[in-house]
Amino acid sequence: MATGKIGVTTENIFPVIKKFLYSDHEIFLRELVSNAIDATQKIKTLASFGEYKGELGKLDVRVSIDKEAGTLTISDHGIGMDAEDIDKYINQIAFSGAEEFLAKYKDTANSIIGHFGLGFYSAFMVAKKVTIRSLSYKEGAKAVEWVCDGSPEYEMKEIDKAERGTDIILEIDDDNKEFLEPTRDIALLKKYCRFLPVPVICGKEQEWKEGKMVDTDKDLVVNATEPLWTKKPAELTDADYLEFYHELHPGEEAPLFWIHLNVDYPFNLTGILYFPKVKTNIDIRHNRIQLYCNQVYVTDQVEGIVPEFMMLMQGVIDSPDVPLNVSRSYLQADSQVKKISGYISKKVAEKLNTMFRDDRKEFEKKWTDIEVFIKYGMLTDEKFYDAAKKFFLLRDVNDNFYTLEEYHKLVESTQTDKDGFVIYLYATDPTSQYGYIKAAEEKGYNVLLMDGQLDSHLIQMLESKLDKIRFVRADSDTPERLINQGEEQASKLSSLDIELLSGIFRSQIPEIKDTNFIVEYAALGAENAPATITQNEMMRRMKDMAALQPGMNFYGSMPTMYSLVVNTDQPAVKKIVEDAREALEVEVAPLMAAVENGNKEAADLRAKVSGAKDDAEKETLNKDISDKEKSVNEAREKEESLIKEYAEGVDTVKQIIDLALLKSHLLSGASLEAFIKRSVSML
Ligand code: ADP
Repeated sequence: MATGKIGVTTENIFPVIKKFLYSDHEIFLRELVSNAIDATQKIKTLASFGEYKGELGKLDVRVSIDKEAGTLTISDHGIGMDAEDIDKYINQIAFSGAEEFLAKYKDTANSIIGHFGLGFYSAFMVAKKVTIRSLSYKEGAKAVEWVCDGSPEYEMKEIDKAERGTDIILEIDDDNKEFLEPTRDIALLKKYCRFLPVPVICGKEQEWKEGKMVDTDKDLVVNATEPLWTKKPAELTDADYLEFYHELHPGEEAPLFWIHLNVDYPFNLTGILYFPKVKTNIDIRHNRIQLYCNQVYVTDQVEGIVPEFMMLMQGVIDSPDVPLNVSRSYLQADSQVKKISGYISKKVAEKLNTMFRDDRKEFEKKWTDIEVFIKYGMLTDEKFYDAAKKFFLLRDVNDNFYTLEEYHKLVESTQTDKDGFVIYLYATDPTSQYGYIKAAEEKGYNVLLMDGQLDSHLIQMLESKLDKIRFVRADSDTPERLINQGEEQASKLSSLDIELLSGIFRSQIPEIKDTNFIVEYAALGAENAPATITQNEMMRRMKDMAALQPGMNFYGSMPTMYSLVVNTDQPAVKKIVEDAREALEVEVAPLMAAVENGNKEAADLRAKVSGAKDDAEKETLNKDISDKEKSVNEAREKEESLIKEYAEGVDTVKQIIDLALLKSHLLSGASLEAFIKRSVSML
């Protein structure tokens, strides 16, 4: 028997392993089974090169539990190890400054293990004693046993072992008895070893017999050794892909389509990504893509490896080239990983483009299910945006689809404003904006439907990317003014008429909570509506943004602003102005003059204040100013109340306002009731 000291530089690495790698105890099984698989793959390779001439025999890996002995054993029929190998690979672990290193990376246990050849030693996270019994494939090799109880001392001796390969026997410590439960181990194996290339057996398959589950004599193989992504796409049917999908993501609705990835240059990558139905609600659920390294499960936290927007996809990626055993921040900065991410993004764009080209009708049918994904990709990934320009679709309110290029051609001639901007009109709610949409369509315009959650962001992006286009919501102005083609008729109203008109309408707008109105007037043609409610595009966007971002409270807390645009060409409006002039001119005109003069005089006085020769003069001037201001206010109040009182009696004013409010869904409660009563009385 030989004894020796394990070649680590720190006095005792095992307590450190136990302490710092605490949270990830379960990965010991992955490490040991992976080693067993590696050894098995190696013997297969050696045999195929003729370097091993013996019988390969059964090559499966077994995980067996002996509850009484308190042991968990991982056995393989791989290349095995002789005393020299054990010395080299197990005893001399190349590891310096272990404690320091572990202290630094204590949160990333996963990263250290494997990366620094600590895989085997992870056994000490759960075992108080580890035994290796191994027979090497080498001719004339002698079987050896190595035993270590977690101190840096080990014992090694020759033993009898007939079968080639290695048994790793773990005497599970008291804190980790859970690993002696078959269900726990099977679950772990299913998680980490589900697609390993060599059959992994853990106990027997069970069946229901006489009221309980009992073992059959059939081995329970926990893994599928040839998962779908390792096969050639040409050999697979849609049914195969769907079956695999349901295996990966049980209980989920069938995916829309999938992409089989297969590259070997400049990096190695295989995998299948499924495209689920994404509802309008963007839910980036994580853990939908599983990452494998040569069929060994690594993680389902793939942030940084696949582009952010791809997190909506599901499936598997397998790459031996991803530096898996390092921290995530390192991963994200890794140029290889960036390339992989870029490659996946490109593949997905290509697939979408092919689908679009091959069957546009079908692509349009799927649009609602994929638009969120495409838009999200365009918003977050410059390269994807460039590729997506070809197949990104705009949809109008009548369900016609256009590529960006097609749409520009469609509206260019009719919807260009006087400054050369092509105006893309849109609606966010075809029902509530119905009247505005119809009015725009009557003018020969096309209206897009932009009702998705990402559309406000998309609009901003398209405006900045595309040359000279602007999005304008159909209700942000009167139809005549939506696209300013420079033909607006100047209003022929006198200042008295304007004063009366504004006063009359302003005084009759009902109070609506958190809502303010500005009265505007414009000559919009005799045949058009007497008044329209509009909401300035920029203001509305600010509010919308504020609603999405809690930080922008300033805009969020401001009242909503609307304009009531009164059409001075419309006969009913004209009549209101004429009648009002007749009734009010005598009283209102002098008041207006008083306001105007008063303001002018106050301004003159104000100019004198700074030149005042002493405080006494300043004081007199200030008093005069405030007297003037007071009289101006009085005149204005008087004027306003006169107009209001008059307007009160003009039912058509109220009717015009209410009709406009009604069209914008702003009329409710008492105001709506009053409108209905008034309308009935007019019958
Ligand atoms: P890593 O697997 O990262 O190299 P490990 O500590 O897990 O680090 O293993 C160290 C080495 O021990 C392996 O590279 C391999 O040469 C050898 N080894 C471990 N387990 C086995 C096994 N079951 N059969 C044969 N060799 C093994």
